[in-house]
Amino acid sequence: MTSSVLCFDIGGTSVRAAKVSADGRAGPVSRFDTPARDREAFLTRLAGICDAEPVRPAAVAISLAGVVNPETGRMIVANIPAIHGTDLSGDLATRLGIPVFVANDADCFAVAEAVSGAGQGHDIVFGIILGTGVGGGLVTDGRLVNARGGFAGEWGHGPVTALRGGTPPVEVPHFACGCGLSGCLDTVAGARGIERLHAHLSGEDKSSHAILEDWRAGLPAATRTLDVYLDIIAGPLALTVNITGATIVPAGGGLARDHALVAAIDAAVRPLTLWQFDRPLVVPATSGEEPGLTGAGIIGLQKLSEG
Ligand SMILES: [Zn+2]
Repeated sequence: MTSSVLCFDIGGTSVRAAKVSADGRAGPVSRFDTPARDREAFLTRLAGICDAEPVRPAAVAISLAGVVNPETGRMIVANIPAIHGTDLSGDLATRLGIPVFVANDADCFAVAEAVSGAGQGHDIVFGIILGTGVGGGLVTDGRLVNARGGFAGEWGHGPVTALRGGTPPVEVPHFACGCGLSGCLDTVAGARGIERLHAHLSGEDKSSHAILEDWRAGLPAATRTLDVYLDIIAGPLALTVNITGATIVPAGGGLARDHALVAAIDAAVRPLTLWQFDRPLVVPATSGEEPGLTGAGIIGLQKLSEG
């Protein structure tokens, strides 16, 4: 059966859309502003794109920065009030009359990397997002683990941040996290986290971009921040690798565009894993500029083939 999937990658400010054909190829990408506050406008906008397709897609697949309550199907999407607490897949499927699949954006990224990126050839892929915050997704044999909820692989949450880090060690407070806990890696490991850590350690208020530039230039304050940063995230990431059995950890998101940072994380993590990898473990993503759309498309096609 030649079936295509209409994919949406939904962020807090913009939505990207593309049709993915049965062979996995994505068509041209269109963009529009997210109707973030109005549920009716949100559903109407997405349905309108689907209705405008000359050939009705077999399904819609959505990547977004949220998780699904596996018991109620309702979304937890903090940055898009229009759909927070709603059953997005159910609402849209009712309107369109075709199946609608929703997946966490880090999960879509992980699937894209496993099937068409740096994770190809690996049975267990743990994809990590180093963006504004941190996220992750776990894929085994090309299939997402915990596809319905989107919680698996979320190494950024949980009160696990070490209270001391770096050489020599310095005290690191447990910062409050948006999830309600404190001490989550999400508070120190993403772009906002590096900035928070740097401000705490040096008193300098700088962007993550500037801090990483200073680090690459060997400036002392940024060197110290990265020393503490790498120390803090390496342990939990190594533990995640041990628990999941992942043999490759593709890294995506804004911070991961800095390949020197990805290499430094790899160098910090590898000595701490039980199995000692003699090649890079944490590597830059290679699945392209649209991992959300790519991953959503793969998930949609997989679900269709399952019937
Ligand atoms: Zn948290």
